[in-house]
Amino acid sequence: MPWVVVGAGLTGLASAQRLAELHPNDEVVLLDARLVGQGASGRNSGFAVAVSHFPGAYKPEHKESFSRVNRINQAGLDLLGQQIKSQSINCQWDDSGFHHGAADRASIKEHKHFIDYLNAMGVEHNSLDQDAMENRFGTSLYKAGVHVKRGALIQPAALVRGLADRQPKNVRLIENCPVLKIERGNPITLQMSGGQIKTDKLVLATNYEAPKLGFLRRHLIGSTLSGSFTRTLTSQELSTLGSHKTWGIISLHGGGATIRLTKDGRICLRNTAEYSGGALLSAQALQTRQVTHRQSFEKRFPQLAHVPFEYGWSGVEGISGNGTNFFGQQSKNIYLAGGYNGSGVTRGTAFGHALAEYAGGGQSDLITDCLGSATATWLPPRPFLDVGAMLKISARFRGVGLDR
Ligand SMILES: Cc1cc2nc3c(=O)[nH]c(=O)nc-3n(C[C@H](O)[C@H](O)[C@H](O)COP(=O)(O)OP(=O)(O)OC[C@H]3O[C@@H](n4cnc5c(N)ncnc54)[C@H](O)[C@@H]3O)c2cc1C
Repeated sequence: MPWVVVGAGLTGLASAQRLAELHPNDEVVLLDARLVGQGASGRNSGFAVAVSHFPGAYKPEHKESFSRVNRINQAGLDLLGQQIKSQSINCQWDDSGFHHGAADRASIKEHKHFIDYLNAMGVEHNSLDQDAMENRFGTSLYKAGVHVKRGALIQPAALVRGLADRQPKNVRLIENCPVLKIERGNPITLQMSGGQIKTDKLVLATNYEAPKLGFLRRHLIGSTLSGSFTRTLTSQELSTLGSHKTWGIISLHGGGATIRLTKDGRICLRNTAEYSGGALLSAQALQTRQVTHRQSFEKRFPQLAHVPFEYGWSGVEGISGNGTNFFGQQSKNIYLAGGYNGSGVTRGTAFGHALAEYAGGGQSDLITDCLGSATATWLPPRPFLDVGAMLKISARFRGVGLDR
């Protein structure tokens, strides 16, 4: 086999698609351990970010590094937008940007930093006060906000299922097929429970699960997030939610809630993150997290306190010690991209696309930008890793206050 891609999330789907376009006479095998949509790419909050938020006061000496990340984001957003439109993928795509909100002391301070950054970077935005936020969303919780016009909202599972269904003809997608072991060599051998595949070149897009296959063992871990969404709101309930018919708000505090009113009229909210060894939450653990989801929902929308949640979910994102991402060659003919620290919808798409070109010997500005990711810091071995990971993830909630 000339090409195998392991992992059919946004990174792997973008990689397989690009490999198939570049090598129309080759078959590209795309393997996933689960069904497409069951990984983080189908479980995220659906914010397709063009302009990243880098916390803290704006530092002009970081401008190029911020620009590099935003160019990658924008490339991913453009790729997604083109595919969604040209292939008519029905995934609630709304590219009118989204909002950032500040409810408590720390995030209100961050609001000022963010505005300074947007001004310095020349990013089009509207700064909003409490009244403007309330008029738009029907909640008085946010004391300040910003609308950034670049960026989109999506229904994540519908997006990845749509992308998977529309892969080029020379992509063979095999789901429910975990790769158990990778033997380096020429060719590379992938061991699965039902047999093996030999390949000349391998693209690894397995996110936080790469360490299980022997890659990035001391660099990448999983952080488990959870959220809930309501039933579809009635038109009377929707009328209490301000002027905007569909919207998303990312907190300006790293531990704050991300919250959306979806196109099908549900409030969808995520506000927990924890270390659980890269596993999803059990039904019982999820139920306890839903108490936190509920508090977050009712303090924003007391007028909807009677509206039940219809569903809760968890998902695992890949994070590195210093917030960097991974892109490039791991060993001979083995390429890897991943670990986007909660911002992989656009970045994963761009990294996956660029990795396919890079693996075929290509060069582009996007590849150069992806290769510019900072070197990852080392994570300690177990059991220190577990303690360190727990502390690192819980630190994101320090000072979160009303933003959670
Ligand atoms: C709750 C939640 C909310 C988030 N919200 C946002 C957001 O709003 N915006 C944003 O930009 N990002 C968000 N993220 C992060 C984003 O979802 C991820 O960064 C992105 O989806 C990563 O894509 P990926 O393709 O690299 O990895 P994944 O989507 O994790 O795909 C990896 C795939 O590899 C497969 N795999 C793993 N190991 C093997 C193996 N051994 N054999 C075969 N297959 C294997 C998995 O089954 C999986 O399908 C969120 C994440 C979570 C969990």
